[in-house]
Amino acid sequence: MAIDTPGTRSDLAPALEVQHVGKTYISRRHRIEAVGDLDFAVRSGEFVCIVGPSGAGKTTILRCIAGLLAPTTGAIFLGGSRVDGPPTDLAVVFQEYGRSLFPWMTVRQNIEAPLKAKGLARSERDRIASEAIAAVGLDGSGDSYPWQLSGGMQQRTAIARAVAFEPKVLLMDEPFAAVDAQTRADLEDLVRNVWERLGVTVVFVTHDIDEAVYLGDRVLVLSKSPTYVLDDITVPLPQQRDQLATRSLPEFADLRARVYARIQEAKKRNPSELVETA
Ligand code: ADP
Repeated sequence: MAIDTPGTRSDLAPALEVQHVGKTYISRRHRIEAVGDLDFAVRSGEFVCIVGPSGAGKTTILRCIAGLLAPTTGAIFLGGSRVDGPPTDLAVVFQEYGRSLFPWMTVRQNIEAPLKAKGLARSERDRIASEAIAAVGLDGSGDSYPWQLSGGMQQRTAIARAVAFEPKVLLMDEPFAAVDAQTRADLEDLVRNVWERLGVTVVFVTHDIDEAVYLGDRVLVLSKSPTYVLDDITVPLPQQRDQLATRSLPEFADLRARVYARIQEAKKRNPSELVETA
């Protein structure tokens, strides 16, 4: 994060800028243009959901934002600083909670690990971890190991670890795809609550249209690969969301229908380019 005086670029810059990003995977036999030209910005504190057909490059773009993959063309900026490796003020929650937690550490130790790496004193780590454990409803499970917990509780631990770190930007890659429907609804509300309380910027990838509309302030619909932004939809639903009331609103049904229609369109456009190179 650049240290600037007030009013200079990093103050005014959006939390995240994806500027004409393209990503081509090149192997010995194939050249796959996964992401064509993605261009969007996310304001600080915004909750943006990204949807698109399977294989549209959603995971690819998230990995580029997380600094785990380098874009082939274009550039990504976080708080005005160019991403050229994993940024320090960003956290990611993946779908595979089972693999993202350290099995030899308790819930509390998992949450504290990045805080330790940040150099926080023990008392501070204790306090922050206790708050995060309470925030995700895991009171009483702090001393359990991940393998002693249900899938939903493991994912709560991963969310607690990510938010305890107090990142400026939180990336979530289909985080609830592997949990049952009831747990999923609980975790959706948990993430909205945490987002409201902490004011963190969230970029949430999902293939579930209802989830995108329920959670987001904005939904970006991606085209089929090679990807571009097919639609950028503002979600004018009340800030206070409720699984039953919000999903029953006529506006919710309209938004859902619009996103659905765009995804159907996305599936037809842009046949994926698979070019033999050998
Ligand atoms: P999504 O998350 O939207 O399902 P991905 O980002 O996983 O899409 O994949 C986008 C495209 O890039 C797909 O065609 C996929 O096969 C290809 N792809 C993803 N990762 C790799 C890789 N490591 N090597 C080659 N091709 C890849």
